[in-house]
Amino acid sequence: MTANPEIDSILQRGADGGRITPEEALLLYTQAPFHALGEAADAVRRRRYPDGIVTYLIDRNINYTNVCVTACKFCAFFRAPKHKEGWSHPTEEILRRCGEAVDLGATQVMLQGGHHPDYGVAYYEDLFSSVKQAYPQLAIHSIGPSEILHMAKVDGVSIEEAVIRIKAAGLDSIAGAGAEMLPERPRKAIAPLKESGERWLEVMAVAHRHGLSSTATMMMGTGETNAERIEHITMIRGVQDLAVANGYRDDAVEKDHTVGGFRAFIPWTYQPENNHLKGRTQATTVEYLRFIAVSRLFFDNVAHLQASWLTTGKDIGQLSLHMGVDDLGSIMLEENVISSAGARHRSNLQGLISMIRTADRIPAQRDTWYRHLAVHRTAAEDPTDERVVSHFSSIAIKGGGAGRTQLPLVDAS
Ligand code: SF4
Repeated sequence: MTANPEIDSILQRGADGGRITPEEALLLYTQAPFHALGEAADAVRRRRYPDGIVTYLIDRNINYTNVCVTACKFCAFFRAPKHKEGWSHPTEEILRRCGEAVDLGATQVMLQGGHHPDYGVAYYEDLFSSVKQAYPQLAIHSIGPSEILHMAKVDGVSIEEAVIRIKAAGLDSIAGAGAEMLPERPRKAIAPLKESGERWLEVMAVAHRHGLSSTATMMMGTGETNAERIEHITMIRGVQDLAVANGYRDDAVEKDHTVGGFRAFIPWTYQPENNHLKGRTQATTVEYLRFIAVSRLFFDNVAHLQASWLTTGKDIGQLSLHMGVDDLGSIMLEENVISSAGARHRSNLQGLISMIRTADRIPAQRDTWYRHLAVHRTAAEDPTDERVVSHFSSIAIKGGGAGRTQLPLVDAS
């Protein structure tokens, strides 16, 4: 109970699974007492996942190119076309990295890259079909709506055609990347050349309609207002309402396993190094945790909420498990994009599992669609492969990045 009956009533409704309005979400975000907010969000998590399981994933983010024409101000990863530090990896190198990932138990790859001026739909068809042919066991959860808009533009085809073709080539799921801030004002301020938030959502809606589910993200801390943060999740919830109303399913999983559309929401905090935006702003830890809790209460139609320990650190990642989070994302065998901008947090598999177990939850490895692959009910059941470590080969880190082909995946130093 709080001292404010209006806040009490909204928290109770949200905790019980009722819908809260954007105005109510903003009130909770700005005024609800921290503990009461976290408690209500955790009640949602407990109702949805009474088994106390918190999931994680083993995957590898593989970048095919850092060449990009879009020049987002917050991005430390891209290089303009013809820049001497620009690179593109051949398919053989991408396959080699996929092979390393499979050896380490990865079940998913996230293929991500810049908006290369020459890469149309056929480039992605070749890329996805090559990966699928070599490693059919790997789920390709990759690219985002802005890459799809870019490839469609390069080839002069519709979004629908691009989605249908890359799905047929092997794309299993669309990453929530490139959402950043969807409302117009903050989006234009940080990514003036990127397509609008409405277009981002349009691509997702087309994909959902065609049996491809996805995730949704949000980058906090580039100068957006609290109201714009709530507007961002309101826009996503509206598209998910469509997926639910139309009964969209994911073609990759058995019919009754999951509703299609957005499987998870993943807010993360902006990293201020090596880019044009730099450190003028940034979300605080409390802002992040409060937003996590509000998101859990607000998204009555999205199954999973993922913490971003990569950007917030492991301590905050663990705290978020008490604010409604049910998934700690991935160990990330390789990550270059966010680490280029300053994210330095890393973990080995044992560390990630320990974050879950010491929060009094049961760790479970999941696949892309949140199906449990291995539930570690006791410490004796924990995996012991010490080679499974997150590794950053950032262009911001000396000795890493551009043009480098051999990544010391097992180097935890
Ligand atoms: S965030 Fe993506 S689209 Fe924007 S500059 Fe970086 S690579 Fe390009």
